[in-house]
Amino acid sequence: MTQHAGKNFPRPTQESQPFWDGCRNGELLLQRCSDCGEHQFYPRMMCCHCNSDALAWVRASGHGTVGSYTVVRRPVSQAYASDTPYIVALIVLAEGPTMMSNVIACDPADVAIGMPVEVTFEQWSEQITIPMFRPRRA
Ligand SMILES: [Zn+2]
Repeated sequence: MTQHAGKNFPRPTQESQPFWDGCRNGELLLQRCSDCGEHQFYPRMMCCHCNSDALAWVRASGHGTVGSYTVVRRPVSQAYASDTPYIVALIVLAEGPTMMSNVIACDPADVAIGMPVEVTFEQWSEQITIPMFRPRRA
């Protein structure tokens, strides 16, 4: 885990703590509105579709597609140097929300918009596990 020293670690909030707890347990959780049925990400106190506060945490499929991406070849700091080149992508989840993440286990030459991906998890510390995405085989 020391290979993540110096990276930008997420700081869970009261709203996002259940999400990070889910990641630590190997589950991708999203908020789902009990009134309109829509999912949302990032975590909020109210539904971004209908303003209801009747939100529940549900397990997402972990499936999505690459909506957009960039390949990072120059690290933002030394902490990321050994990761380059790496893929930063907007993942359009099957449930609807978009999540910024990394596509791993994928040659940067092979990533493509519309590519099916699935979630996988990378433990950075005892508290923080990061959801990442890898190519999904049909
Ligand atoms: Zn709603």
